[in-house]
Amino acid sequence: MQYYSTTNRELKVSLQEAVLKGLAPDNGLFMPLTIPTFPEAWMEELSNLSFREIGYRVIGALFSSDLTDAQIQELVDHTLTFDAPLVEVEQNVFSLELFHGPTLAFKDFGARFCAKLLGMLVGTSAKKTRILVATSGDTGSAVANGFLNVAGVEVIILYPKGKVSLLQEKQFTTLGKNIICLEVEGVFDDCQALVKQAFLDPELNEKLILTSANSINVARWIPQCLYYFYAYSRLPKKTEKIVFSVPSGNFGNLAAGILAQRMGLPISQFIAATNENKVVPTFLTGSYFEAKPSIPTLSNAMDVGNPSNFPRLVNLFEGDEEKFRNQVKGYFFSDAQTVQAMQSVYRLGYTLDPHGAIGYLGLKKFLEIDKDYQGIFLETAHPGKFQEVVEKAISEKLKLPERLAIFQKGEKNTIPLTASFESFKQFLSALD
Ligand SMILES: *Cc1c(COP(=O)(O)O)cnc(C)c1O
Repeated sequence: MQYYSTTNRELKVSLQEAVLKGLAPDNGLFMPLTIPTFPEAWMEELSNLSFREIGYRVIGALFSSDLTDAQIQELVDHTLTFDAPLVEVEQNVFSLELFHGPTLAFKDFGARFCAKLLGMLVGTSAKKTRILVATSGDTGSAVANGFLNVAGVEVIILYPKGKVSLLQEKQFTTLGKNIICLEVEGVFDDCQALVKQAFLDPELNEKLILTSANSINVARWIPQCLYYFYAYSRLPKKTEKIVFSVPSGNFGNLAAGILAQRMGLPISQFIAATNENKVVPTFLTGSYFEAKPSIPTLSNAMDVGNPSNFPRLVNLFEGDEEKFRNQVKGYFFSDAQTVQAMQSVYRLGYTLDPHGAIGYLGLKKFLEIDKDYQGIFLETAHPGKFQEVVEKAISEKLKLPERLAIFQKGEKNTIPLTASFESFKQFLSALD
């Protein structure tokens, strides 16, 4: 399978190149040249299959021209080591719990898949592969944990100083080994800009093998479509009106849902739910797309002012903005509304994290317009990851899962960096 750039359909590369480069040389995002589709009959069989069986089929359809059956099985088995249960929170309102992985956020799916696939593709190259990651919190921990101890790979994480939760920070700054953490004097968008610039810098790319594991990388992005199939398969009633509400920041997760739909998953509606960083909801209500500086909120993993996967969304709708706006509704919510949602749902017996709360709010708002829909919101992180915010909202102590408590004991180890490209380049140039 070849992959083309969203900015130029004529620019086509192999899977290996797409994964190792991350970003296309013309600054576009890679897309699979053809999107395979499943027959309707397969959708009816889905409920009889396990998560992994669904994974073999979907990943097989996308990657069988590049990987052996054994490799596909290995990839899926390595990625799906934990479940994604669908929990009914209210009538017709389901939470898809994507936080049962090692770092308790949905990014574990993409990061584990990406680490395994990259390991397969770099093979036995003598030169180290460096993965540059900008994170607003959860990407860093998922990628770092996914790649920890992977031979021939070093991970360099850039994160905004003081803008990620203590626990999030501990999840990547305490690992050591092949994980290096740069604490940047700036916001997430600065980190993302530094990484982007490094990929476009000829001198650096001459000297080092640089790649990305952000959701712009196809190896991070594509596997996220798996749990849309799985969630659908576990819905008790397969009705025509099914909607997914996706709490969004860089919009990789939502774009993966649309990819699943293109592969034949019968989903008629999506909701792009955001916090005050609302450039996509604003676009969806009829305005131009306009990047904005990011605004800090309680759902900080979604504090993104210039969503990197937006071109992918446009591409999936073949540039048809009307179709895009018809199939994706955009809603945004304040911190106060986020807290209220956590409180009201807690009274129903379910604990949301601030990101899931945004997904829930988006879904509820949609259901006000059409209550005949069954809705699934993506619960993207375990509430314990945002302990302070959640405990304050619900006025109760949370019980932290074991695997989260372990990170708290580690020692933070970071290198300070200003947000200027010069200093970042200097740091990278000094690597061997
Ligand atoms: C990264 C993240 C998001 C946003 O996902 P995108 O794919 O960037 O839109 C939402 N919730 C949590 C908890 C996250 O870590």
